[in-house]
Amino acid sequence: MKSILIIADGLGGRPTDQAGKTCLEAARKPNLDGLAAQGAVGLVDPIGPGIRPGSDTAHLSLLGYNPRELYTGRGVFECLGIGLDVQPGDICFRANFATVKESAGALLLVDRRAGRIESGQRELEAALDGMKLKTPGVDVAFRASTEHRGALLLRGSELSPYVGETDPHETGAEIRSAEPMAEGRAARRTADAVNELTRRSYELLKDLPLNVARAKAHKLPANILLVRGAADCPHIPSIPSIYGVRGAVIAGGALYRGVALACGLESIEVEGATGGLDTNLRAKAAAALKALETYDLVFVHIKGTDNAAHDHQAAAKTAFIERIDAEFFGTLLGGIDWNTTHVAFTGDHTTAIDYGDHTADPVPVLFAGPKVRRDDVTTFDERAAARGGLLRFSGQVLPTLMSYADRSPKYGS
Ligand code: ZN
Ligand code: ZN
Repeated sequence: MKSILIIADGLGGRPTDQAGKTCLEAARKPNLDGLAAQGAVGLVDPIGPGIRPGSDTAHLSLLGYNPRELYTGRGVFECLGIGLDVQPGDICFRANFATVKESAGALLLVDRRAGRIESGQRELEAALDGMKLKTPGVDVAFRASTEHRGALLLRGSELSPYVGETDPHETGAEIRSAEPMAEGRAARRTADAVNELTRRSYELLKDLPLNVARAKAHKLPANILLVRGAADCPHIPSIPSIYGVRGAVIAGGALYRGVALACGLESIEVEGATGGLDTNLRAKAAAALKALETYDLVFVHIKGTDNAAHDHQAAAKTAFIERIDAEFFGTLLGGIDWNTTHVAFTGDHTTAIDYGDHTADPVPVLFAGPKVRRDDVTTFDERAAARGGLLRFSGQVLPTLMSYADRSPKYGS
């Protein structure tokens, strides 16, 4: 038995100015409607009713974990997703390039995204990765990701995740000094290391040829690294160890790749998978079909739906759902063996167009495959899903899929 789980980020919606329809309701999506007719649908609360999910915690919950027990912070997943090796004891941070100006010895924030820097990140990464600190016994690893974003990892003895951030989040404000948020030497030492590396990043970056060129082109220099979201390595029992399956992840965004890697899946790189609205959905579906030949489980993450909704763009979200239907499912369904494969499709939360952020509304979910008890619903959207045979449940989408594949461990005797 093979299983494929597809999560479209922020798929769920609320009524929009498209005649009061949600984006899913407004979209033309014959493939998804066909899957709904063939299988069973319902509503899923990604974490629980009334809980407004983050993407990382929602993914953990949909994958069958309790984020309240094991979530330590986003930084770990960013580090893993970007290709850093994370070991127990390491402290991970989300990081961003920013622009500061010096005034009487203080560093004042000009732009916390360095003008959304669009190129040259490799040069910045090379300058920062492996920087030497005076704080003894602390190694620094850094990777740049998209635009101004990156991930930073500290390795050494006696480090703590209980340390504050350096990003003041306010233009004109002085760069924050990271403060220990726990008693004891480890938090103090970690805060010292963070403050030292912040200062040092400014010295390393300010005169880089890239920044000299940016200044000449009247662009903001990326002259400092700010960090936040300190997290240590969570203990997550792996999907292969729980279900006895080999699994792969296909995701353009580092965060989602990182969550899947933390859960024991192997990453498959797909050219043109950008984690944005311009992603190559046909290539992702083709790669998923190929992966199903060798893996028992394939998890595909699609991000663009969330991006459009954060930008309040109902038409763009609807159009992207239509592309998911035509390009992703059009390709995938051409190659699925329905005798041996179960498909699950859902979102990790609702991202409402007017609010421009995640909301607690439940999300439609569908399962199709040889063991699924078909219900009477023949369209796939929020209101139709409320009439579906799966009713309404919380998280646990992957365990349900693994149960259809007869891979679930029994709870009790
Ligand atoms: Zn999300
Ligand atoms: Zn989002």
